[in-house]
Amino acid sequence: MSSRAEESSRSPVANPVPSFWNAEPRALDDHRTTPDLPQTCDVVIVGAGFAGVATAYHILKDNPNPPSIVLLEARKVCSGASGRNGGHVKPDTYFNVPKFAKIFGVQAAAELAAFEASHVYAVKDLVEAEKLDCDFHLTRALDVYLDPEHAKQTEAAYRDLIKTGAVNLHDVAFTPEKDAERVSGVKGARCCFSFTAAHLWPAKMIHQLLEGLLKKGLNLQTNTPTQSVSSTKDADGNWTVQTPRGTIKARKVVFATNGYTAQILPEYKDKIVPVRGICSRISSPRGVATPHLVNTYGIRFDARNNDYLIPRADGSIVVGGARQRFWHHREQWFDNVRDDELVADAVSYFDGYMQRHFRGWEDSGAKVSEVWTGIMGYSSDFIPHLGEVPDKPGQFIIAGFSGHGMPEILGSSKAVAALVRDGTPIEKSGVPAILKTSKERVIRKDNPLEESLQSVWVDDKSPAKAKL
Ligand SMILES: Cc1cc2nc3c(=O)[nH]c(=O)nc-3n(C[C@H](O)[C@H](O)[C@H](O)COP(=O)(O)OP(=O)(O)OC[C@H]3O[C@@H](n4cnc5c(N)ncnc54)[C@H](O)[C@@H]3O)c2cc1C
Repeated sequence: MSSRAEESSRSPVANPVPSFWNAEPRALDDHRTTPDLPQTCDVVIVGAGFAGVATAYHILKDNPNPPSIVLLEARKVCSGASGRNGGHVKPDTYFNVPKFAKIFGVQAAAELAAFEASHVYAVKDLVEAEKLDCDFHLTRALDVYLDPEHAKQTEAAYRDLIKTGAVNLHDVAFTPEKDAERVSGVKGARCCFSFTAAHLWPAKMIHQLLEGLLKKGLNLQTNTPTQSVSSTKDADGNWTVQTPRGTIKARKVVFATNGYTAQILPEYKDKIVPVRGICSRISSPRGVATPHLVNTYGIRFDARNNDYLIPRADGSIVVGGARQRFWHHREQWFDNVRDDELVADAVSYFDGYMQRHFRGWEDSGAKVSEVWTGIMGYSSDFIPHLGEVPDKPGQFIIAGFSGHGMPEILGSSKAVAALVRDGTPIEKSGVPAILKTSKERVIRKDNPLEESLQSVWVDDKSPAKAKL
């Protein structure tokens, strides 16, 4: 349990509950490249999750003049969301495209969908190029709709999207109600959509990437929380990064701090909020032959509530979501960094999950073997912040992936790394321009995320249906 002071702050808390992915210790968990912190370096990166490690990777990749980089991590390597997620690389190819088209315009929404779709193969390429042993599987994701009204609305929105012709939907396949249950294997399916996706073991990928980076001179310092970063440069043009183990002076600082960003970058206070999620792993008893699922899944109960599911090659299933159980209790998840405890109201949600939802699993004896929580960084305008922090030249942010980082982080980190390396503007790096952080995004007074959630929080007893 953490103290009251920690509870009210947005720092990573001590002793996060173990996740399936991080249950076994790894060599780099508590690594410190040097016993003391270097006093100076070219670049400090804060946060050793996927975003921080991938940014370091791209800064050092094929770089004839590599800068000195210190990677600071408050806890163990990959102990944040990247080590506690669902392992699902599931691009948003159609579902939120109409929503984003309304907010940002059709062209920008189409660019975002294409950017996400490109990540499935970008992650595959990375895994192959770097020979990362991380259970990567290329697959199709099946989005299965259980609510008849929601199924109808989504199909209509999809057909409208086709008509616009602006969005590349070649990879998206629709299955109507008459075939949906058989095609998906999900009981009561009203329709489903499928598209190319992947799943993997993120912590293995990130640890192995780090091993390569250490050989290239990266200095990794775990269990070293950044307490503050100066808001002005010193006379030599350096930022001062304060930790309990001393200070580091650096020309450039990258914040890859996910939901914890506002703790050390206060201007992002209402812009990136820590949000707690819950995930589980379901295993069948030895010797029981359960139907093998070849696809990954999204199970959509209505416009707000959905679960995500990946079938692992070991026969177990990783399932997360369970929003129905706790989203109406704001304090249980919103502005909450407590991954040192489970969400009590949601733990039993995963019991009997496969038997409830999947054909042929009724007698599987499948049981929950692990449950864990993790902290996401939800962005108030639904999209991540990438680029130079407004009014702080030399400070950079890559955060706010809103529970959806796996199909966004690789390309985002490449763009942020190019900006750090040689000043290449974010929008010139193949990243949708809307993802660029800006003063306008940081100072805007309205908060679309919180506005969209009001209906969930109004009545604690009967959460309203989504308007997202
Ligand atoms: C339960 C759950 C399930 C999810 N499932 C999926 C999924 O299936 N697919 C998907 O695409 N996305 C999923 N996500 C979201 C995904 O995991 C994140 O978008 C992604 O991991 C974010 O990576 P990151 O590097 O930005 O953040 P993190 O992995 O959280 O890394 C940030 C790091 O910064 C460190 N840090 C923060 N502040 C400081 C500080 N002051 N000093 C030093 N270090 C600091 C933290 O300790 C942490 O290690 C899920 C998230 C959760 C919690």
